[in-house]
Amino acid sequence: MKFSDLGLSDDILQAVSDAGYETPTPIQAKAIPYVLMNRDLLGCAQTGTGKTASFTLPMIDVLSHGRARARMPRSLIIEPTRELAAQVAEQFEVYGKHHKFTLALLIGGVSFDEQNKALDKGVDVLIATPGRLLDHVDRGKVLLNDVKILVIDEADRMLDMGFIPDVEKIVSHLPKIRQTLFFSATMPSEIRRLSKKFLMNPKEVSVDPPASTAETVEQNLVRVAPRGKRDVLRTLLNEEGVQNALVFCNRKRDVDAVFKSMKQHGFNVGALHGDMDQYSRMEILTKFKAGETTLLVCSDVAARGLDIASVSHVFNFDVPTTAEDYVHRVGRTGRAGRKGRAISLVTSEDSRYVDAIIKLIGKDIPELKVDGSAPGPVKSTTVESPAVESPAANNDKPVPVAKRRARKAAPKPPKPAEASEKPRARKPQEKRRPERAASEDHNSPVGLGDHVPAFLLR
Ligand code: AMP
Repeated sequence: MKFSDLGLSDDILQAVSDAGYETPTPIQAKAIPYVLMNRDLLGCAQTGTGKTASFTLPMIDVLSHGRARARMPRSLIIEPTRELAAQVAEQFEVYGKHHKFTLALLIGGVSFDEQNKALDKGVDVLIATPGRLLDHVDRGKVLLNDVKILVIDEADRMLDMGFIPDVEKIVSHLPKIRQTLFFSATMPSEIRRLSKKFLMNPKEVSVDPPASTAETVEQNLVRVAPRGKRDVLRTLLNEEGVQNALVFCNRKRDVDAVFKSMKQHGFNVGALHGDMDQYSRMEILTKFKAGETTLLVCSDVAARGLDIASVSHVFNFDVPTTAEDYVHRVGRTGRAGRKGRAISLVTSEDSRYVDAIIKLIGKDIPELKVDGSAPGPVKSTTVESPAVESPAANNDKPVPVAKRRARKAAPKPPKPAEASEKPRARKPQEKRRPERAASEDHNSPVGLGDHVPAFLLR
């Protein structure tokens, strides 16, 4: 299958070729023809599959005829996080460089004035997070009754973040006759219900079985004592041939703590979580994408959908308490067919989360032994752990060459440095609270400056 078989215009084909893409990804090959036919679409695809281009490319062609009126956008894309919204905007920039169209980004943490100015000019493509969009709607600054194409992206994430009531409210302002493209990495029953409500006779396209991790990502578990996590992380960072990596923590305060600890140990590291202002988030992301910062400690919400083309490693400093989050985290590496590596640090308290992850992804995650890893089972059911006490058992499982030097016959007790690190008050039962208050913070307008996509600076 070639891009030229999909029915896209010559201008788009040129932009795609300039972007260096040779062949459409499966989701693009399946979705683009339907979008061009103005069909509703239910897309089940993870980030990293080329999903964004599967709607941006045909939308640019569909929107190339006609003009937008002031405050009446012709299309609307709803994204769960600011970063994801900004990335979609950037993709429109790249693929739409041979087309004339206007675009506005309505995200929290940015001044209303600048957003109002953009809306007043009339926009063809409006990309928004739900909270900020509703604020504009409530103030009468944007009218949604001329929207011809609606995209709801990362619907399952919106559900996790408690945005669904906002999304339903937004959709109630849209005309009934429209084209709706609905994407989700997983299809829990609530998402199915919504898709039935929002879509008319949709074409369903799915790439990868729901909630699978990319085959190109080599995944491992490392068993650790809770106090040995940072030490083991440092070992992995030094032993694993890491070019750049995301290090995920479950809570914001752990993001800060791990960031500080890594910095103290001389790593080139940044941190990203939902409480940071937009300016700092964009700055850190830009540095990471440019390779100036090689390690990024982050929370789930902040890192959701980050489009960083080549992340060599993902480390789960904490095992996510929701199996879907594991899939999303791991999806930050091994994107678009590249090789990636994902390693999770697992304490004895994490067994049930690990079991849930293995069940969801439908495959086992082999254990890796490194200096400082701990004895004891990491999973309560699926795979038996190698008997680390027995040197013979250590040779049971094939371990990649790169890791063999890290492998130990027997686990060592924690080093004194670990013991001096504060014990983490871990509550596995604690539910992750939605970060909406932070990610949709309206009280701290920071202005866009030159830290946002270039189209806003034109
Ligand atoms: P997405 O799933 O939309 O987040 O895209 C993941 C990555 O794949 C992005 O960095 C895209 O730039 C890249 N990408 C999208 N389409 C293609 C393609 N046809 N060939 C190669 N890379 C692509």
